[in-house]
Amino acid sequence: MSRTLISNRESTAIPLFAPYINGKEWQYVKECLDTGWVSSKGSLVERFEHIMAELIGRQFAVACVNGTSALHTALLVAGIQKDEEVLVPTLTFIATANVVRYVGAWPVFMDAEPDTRQIDPVKIKDFLSKGCILRKGKLINKTTKRTVKAIMPVHFLGHPANMDSILEDAKKYHLLVIEDAAGAIGAMYKNQPVGSLGDMACFSFNGNKIVTTGGGGMLVTENEKWAAKARYYTTQAKDDSLEQIHNEIGYNYRLSNLQAAMGVAQIEKLEEILALKEEIVNFYNNELGEIPGIRIPQEAAWAKSNHWLYTILVDKRKYGINSRQLMRRLLKEGIECRPLGHPLHTLKPYRHCQSFQIEEANRLYREGLSLPCYAGLQKEQQGRIINIIREK
Ligand SMILES: *Cc1c(COP(=O)(O)O)cnc(C)c1O
Repeated sequence: MSRTLISNRESTAIPLFAPYINGKEWQYVKECLDTGWVSSKGSLVERFEHIMAELIGRQFAVACVNGTSALHTALLVAGIQKDEEVLVPTLTFIATANVVRYVGAWPVFMDAEPDTRQIDPVKIKDFLSKGCILRKGKLINKTTKRTVKAIMPVHFLGHPANMDSILEDAKKYHLLVIEDAAGAIGAMYKNQPVGSLGDMACFSFNGNKIVTTGGGGMLVTENEKWAAKARYYTTQAKDDSLEQIHNEIGYNYRLSNLQAAMGVAQIEKLEEILALKEEIVNFYNNELGEIPGIRIPQEAAWAKSNHWLYTILVDKRKYGINSRQLMRRLLKEGIECRPLGHPLHTLKPYRHCQSFQIEEANRLYREGLSLPCYAGLQKEQQGRIINIIREK
C-alpha cells in the first residue's frame, strides 16, 4: 500500500507508513521459489514461528494469514461462546471488536487513560466490581445479564497497556486475557515483551506495521493444548488428512512459506527498526514538545513503546486550529496523516453494545493526529513536517 503511495505521487510526498525492506527478504523468498516451497508447508513457516516464540518468550507460536485471523483463532481456542462478553477498549482498530462478533460474543467497550491512551484499568476494576456479580464461578454482567469471559487489552499505537491491574482482576474474576499486540512487536511492559503477559497474544505483520510480511499474523501462548488447537483451527480442523476427516468447522488461516520468508528477514531487522524509530521520536519530541497546544505522546515509566504510530494531541484553544484543520494543512503539503480510529462504541455495528463510562477516548479521538514515523523517514522529511506544524 505505502509503496504505491510513494511511487505514484510526486517525490516530495510523505506516506504515513512505509515498510523497511533492506535485509535478507530477497534471499529467503528466493529460497522458497528455488525449492518450490511456496505454500503453507515449508520450513520457513516453522522458522518464523520459532523466532517469534523466542522473541516474545513464549513456548508456542502459530502463524496465521493476518492479525485478525490470529485474534479470531485465539477466541475460538479460548472457547468464547455465543452471547458471552469480552471487554475491549473503544480506542483500537475495528478488528479487535469484530473478532468478538465472529464467535457470536459481544464486546463491552472501555475507556482510555488520557496519558498512555491505553485501556483504563481503573475503570475495568470499577466495571468488574460494581457492574458485575460472581455467581457459581461465573461473572455475570448486571446490565446485560450475559457472562463476561475475557479481557482483550490492546497495546494501542505500540505502547503497552497497563497490564498488572488487568491480570490481577482477570485472576480474581476468572477471566481470560487475550492481548491484542497486533501493532506492538518489540514493545515492553516492565521489561517483559508484550505478548508474554496474558493467556494468549496476537501480532500482525500487515503492511502498515513496523515488521511486515505483506500480510500475516501470529498467535503466541504458553499453553500447549491451546497452541495445538490453534494449529487445528487454522488448517481446516483436519482430524485425518488421508481420509480427510474433519470433526469441527475450521478455517484456512495458515500463513504461506513466502510470507514467512519475509517475516524471518524482517525480524532480523527489528532492533534496527526500533532504534531508527526511537531517533525520530526523540527529534519529534524535542521539536514539537515546545509548541503551545501540541501534546506529544507520553511513555509511561513502566513502558517501552515501539512507537508504531506517533500521535500528537492538538488543543485548539492553545494552538489556534484543531486537529482536523492541521491534518488538512499537512495533507495539502503531501504529508499523509490521520486521526485515531473512530471510537468503536459510536460506530454503527457497535452503537447498541454496552460501553462503560467513556469520556477520555472521545477527547483523544477529537484531538489526536498520527504523523509519519516509519523507520525510513529521512531527517529532512521530519524537518518539513515539524516546520508545517510550527508555522500552521
Ligand atoms: C493491525 C491491527 C489488527 C489487525 O491486524 P491485520 O493483520 O490487519 O488483520 C488488529 N488489532 C490492532 C490493534 C491492529 O493494529
